[in-house]
Amino acid sequence: MTDMWRSRATQVTPAGVHSNARIAVADLVFTHGDGPWLFDTNGTRYVDYMLGRGPALLGHTPTAVNDAVYAAVQRGITLGSATPGEIEASEAVLSVIPWADQIRFTSSGTEAVQAAFRLARAATKRQLVMQFDGLYHGWVDTVSLVAGPDARSAAPGTQGQIANSAANTILLPWNDVDAVSSAFEQWGDQIAAVITEPVNIFGGTLAAPGYLQHLRDITHKYGTVLIFDEVVSGFRLQPGSAASLVGVTPDLGTFAKAMGAGWPVSAVAGKSELFEGVAENRVTLSGTYNGNAAAMAAVTAAIAQMADGTLHAAMNRWGSTLMSELERIAAAAGSPLKCEGFPTAFWMVFEGMARNASDERAEAFNGALKQQQVIQYHHTWLTSAAHDDEALAFTVAAVKRAFAGTGFGGTPDLGSSL
Ligand code: PLP
Repeated sequence: MTDMWRSRATQVTPAGVHSNARIAVADLVFTHGDGPWLFDTNGTRYVDYMLGRGPALLGHTPTAVNDAVYAAVQRGITLGSATPGEIEASEAVLSVIPWADQIRFTSSGTEAVQAAFRLARAATKRQLVMQFDGLYHGWVDTVSLVAGPDARSAAPGTQGQIANSAANTILLPWNDVDAVSSAFEQWGDQIAAVITEPVNIFGGTLAAPGYLQHLRDITHKYGTVLIFDEVVSGFRLQPGSAASLVGVTPDLGTFAKAMGAGWPVSAVAGKSELFEGVAENRVTLSGTYNGNAAAMAAVTAAIAQMADGTLHAAMNRWGSTLMSELERIAAAAGSPLKCEGFPTAFWMVFEGMARNASDERAEAFNGALKQQQVIQYHHTWLTSAAHDDEALAFTVAAVKRAFAGTGFGGTPDLGSSL
């Protein structure tokens, strides 16, 4: 069946998928999801650690969220002005992001990031944005960038971009304090914003100790807006923003994915003074689907599930068990690794290997896991509130088979499964 669907898919859309981020798994055609499971057109069941690349924090069938959405859309979806639903959703988000005063909903992470740039440029009356190589902020020209010919410049990251789309960006290696300091010494009074993820989840890298604080201090010093892109980390690592987890508070944050538990919604949130121009209609942030009923009901219902922290505590326990199981199986297979990051978003670091080699090995291990019906994205594992004992036992057995059958290790300790 899958071959038939693949062939139909490639007829009607390039590469057979509707986002280039999906090309790596384009050979799979999914019929449905259920909790932590995905099912393909051949009827094969997979345990899912890709989770739509972040949104399915509550699993693929979050009943309470879906029920709230179905009820809300009976009253109309896009009403065209303020609704109680969007006011409640705004209050819900702000209640779990204490450092933010105001919010504007958008629809995708890419859009929320562009909104943050506009707010920062309007407030500072400056042009330049500092970004970091390897951190993803969306697919449009201003952020689809790669390192340029010299240490600080950026270049278009894809064909089809405006030639000068990198012109207003300073692109630096991430986690390099000196590079940030010297760029600020040279251009500090022209830098509107610095954008970073607080944790580079899909890149599998934590901020170096003191790095985010350095960004905070230097942006304060130069009057630059610090933006945390929390499209992946927000609501995944803890309810709301990861700022308190990393101990640094930005001026603006962008949120999406887990905030809507799968329903398409994003937002930019932050200090009210940064939104003043929008309130006075000097700064435009528009969007037909902003605040639509489905998105708002999803946000309010998702936050109701997680606001008291119980859900994340349970997810952290489950994810920690998985992390130690993976380490134990890998060690027994003669291919030791460490799981780094957080229980709801972690990545594999193979021991005794250079960073790049370890990343490549983790990526290659993905392929072996897919054969064993375990789906993940790059080398990052995302977990959900729906992952349960059955999913854990399935994963442990699959990982052992992956190590045994693919030259990724020696002989696994198959006797000690859960
Ligand atoms: N920012 C980060 C950190 C992301 O990981 C992504 C997407 O994965 C985006 C922004 C863009 O979000 P979207 O794909 O919803 O436009």
